[in-house]
Amino acid sequence: MSMKKLITVFGATGAQGKSVVQALLSDGSFKVRAVTRDPTKAVAQKMVSQGVEVVKGDFDKEGDIKAAMQGAYGCFFVTNFIEHQQKALEVKQGQTAANVAKALGIKHFIYSSLQNVNRETGGKLQVPHFDGKGEVEEYLRDIGVPSTCLRLPAYFENFLSFFKPHNVPNKNVYTVAIPMGDVPLDGMAVEDFGPVVVSVLKHPNEYIGKDITLSTDLLTVDEYCAILSECLGKNIQNAKMSVEDYEKLGFPMAEELANMFRYYMMRPKRDIPLTMKLNPKAKNFKQWVTDNKDKFGDL
Ligand code: NAP
Repeated sequence: MSMKKLITVFGATGAQGKSVVQALLSDGSFKVRAVTRDPTKAVAQKMVSQGVEVVKGDFDKEGDIKAAMQGAYGCFFVTNFIEHQQKALEVKQGQTAANVAKALGIKHFIYSSLQNVNRETGGKLQVPHFDGKGEVEEYLRDIGVPSTCLRLPAYFENFLSFFKPHNVPNKNVYTVAIPMGDVPLDGMAVEDFGPVVVSVLKHPNEYIGKDITLSTDLLTVDEYCAILSECLGKNIQNAKMSVEDYEKLGFPMAEELANMFRYYMMRPKRDIPLTMKLNPKAKNFKQWVTDNKDKFGDL
């Protein structure tokens, strides 16, 4: 019988969770249980074929969280604000998981978190998808769940979607709209996140009780554009959009994302050396673009 400790991975079919599952499988030190609302989906079925125990579970059902954590040594927990865009619901999902972990005696709870900007700025800026996660961080500490909070920076993968360079009609130019002025923005590939989680799980004495703000590169928007131009062979420029213009773009999260950029312009400290210690193979932006050129297609 295997004596390996079991890790329950919530959000296992998503960008973060998939990376965590694959890193746990490559490492081989732990057994893996993956949680999804739909175990029939292709990504879940692929995990089954890799020997992962895949279970059905919904964050909104406490019983599901309990069943998924039963017998586990540790867990990885991530919520998806974008799906519902309600801070109160994200906090409730996180606090429910924290309560279940406490009741079951989970030994190491890895929480994918973000800073409580509202508290850090004394109420000047609200970023609900950050603030709620920050509140869950505080709750985990308050009720005494042995936990490590990992705060990811902007994913490099956003350059394939949310930060994607846009073609300027009738010109051979593409622009990137990230309203950071000349202030550098931290980033990291979400595909490099899984090994970070595995390192943390393998060194509980070092990392339980810590909040770690991750990053593998810190670049201005001009620098991001220069690397994209060089690697993709296109003329990609900074749109030089102001945060005030960004806020008025009118899409559902425009205002809170503008506040997120305002917060990032305050240069919250991130730890590149520790991120690289936790995943020595994590890529900087240039390495990531070079390795993922095909995904940009013809832009
Ligand atoms: P994702 O790829 O969209 O995946 C979301 C995952 O959450 C899926 O596996 C989904 O599982 C699961 N999920 C959502 N609601 C659930 C529920 N009610 N019950 C059970 N599972 C549920 O998301 P991601 O990128 O991994 O993580 C999203 C989070 O990352 C967001 O909260 C965001 O704030 C944070 N974040 C993003 C960035 C960025 O640059 N984009 C940076 C830092 C942090 P099923 O659908 O299979 O059930």
